[in-house]
Amino acid sequence: MTERKHNFNAGPAALPFSVLKTVHEQLLDFEENGLSLMEMSHRSAEFDEVIEGAKAALTTLYEIPDTHEVMFMQGGASLQFAMIPLNLGAGGAYINTGTWSTRAVAEAKTIGVAHEIWSGKDGGFRRIPTAADLAVPADATYLHYTSNNTIYGTQFQTRPTSNLPLVCDMSSDFISRPVDVSAYDLIYAGAQKNAGPSGVTIVIIKKSISRVFSGDPKTPKIMRYVTQAEKGSMYNTPNTFGIWIIKLVAEWVLSKGGLGAIHTENQEKAEMLYDVIDAHPRCTGHAEVTGRSLMNVTFRMDSEAREKAFLAHCTEQNMIGLKGHRSVGGLRASIYNAVPKESVANLCQALSEFRS
Ligand SMILES: *Cc1c(COP(=O)(O)O)cnc(C)c1O
Repeated sequence: MTERKHNFNAGPAALPFSVLKTVHEQLLDFEENGLSLMEMSHRSAEFDEVIEGAKAALTTLYEIPDTHEVMFMQGGASLQFAMIPLNLGAGGAYINTGTWSTRAVAEAKTIGVAHEIWSGKDGGFRRIPTAADLAVPADATYLHYTSNNTIYGTQFQTRPTSNLPLVCDMSSDFISRPVDVSAYDLIYAGAQKNAGPSGVTIVIIKKSISRVFSGDPKTPKIMRYVTQAEKGSMYNTPNTFGIWIIKLVAEWVLSKGGLGAIHTENQEKAEMLYDVIDAHPRCTGHAEVTGRSLMNVTFRMDSEAREKAFLAHCTEQNMIGLKGHRSVGGLRASIYNAVPKESVANLCQALSEFRS
């Protein structure tokens, strides 16, 4: 095999190598069934074990209470931007901390009223608001936020509080740290950042929403949580292959000691990298220190020419995916769960050597 790259892609992103090896071994002959999982019916007993196994692993990881359930959908996190106001009602309150929350509130506005109650846009989305920054309207239908801002590299350290149903886009820090699921009405995550391949979205939802539809009556059947919940995520043919990989990734996190253990590892990796950036005479971090992301580390060098030269140097060193998003520029290292500490150490070393 070609030497494996140090993969700092933002998404689709690195997957645990052991998971890829299992997929490789099982691809042609899934658990000695004489066919690939991709060729099996989603109604088969074999796939039922896969989807139930994926739900079970996520339930164990997050200690998901009985009041909530796990669903798998398609259409990315982006479809959720529309489904949330359709199902929970127009009039949601949105905290805008970056590109994805901007997209979420814009989509909600195509459906009805949506309140952008805070925006970090004027400050270049460098920070996360404090409780004092937020005036949450009491009559809003829900409060929506993005826990980790993939493009700007900021992350909420604590969840915002209000009396409203809480909805969170956790696409880029899903299963990266412990979360009290009971505090949320709805959590959603496109799998391709931290939990699997693209083409499948994980939804953890309160049964009071998923079992009773009380949204806009014009909502198409396929866009109602009730429809998917009643059909066990199989109203339409699910992404069977993607759900299998989510199961394997969730089990891999469990085998490493669960969310507490992976969080510690993520903290260590991020600290290593931020320490080098902070001490580097030619680098500046994008995010304010208190709102820094453990998943996406964004920074700049003192000239674009130097950034370009550094990226070329990294490519030579087998490190890829470090170019910042086109809307921010600079550099971004996505160091999700599956990015080994050794890859981060390699990047730290390359940065340290790139002083002169
Ligand atoms: C990538 C990303 C999205 C968009 O995901 P799609 O699956 O492409 O719709 C939404 N929110 C966040 C936080 C993301 O990182």
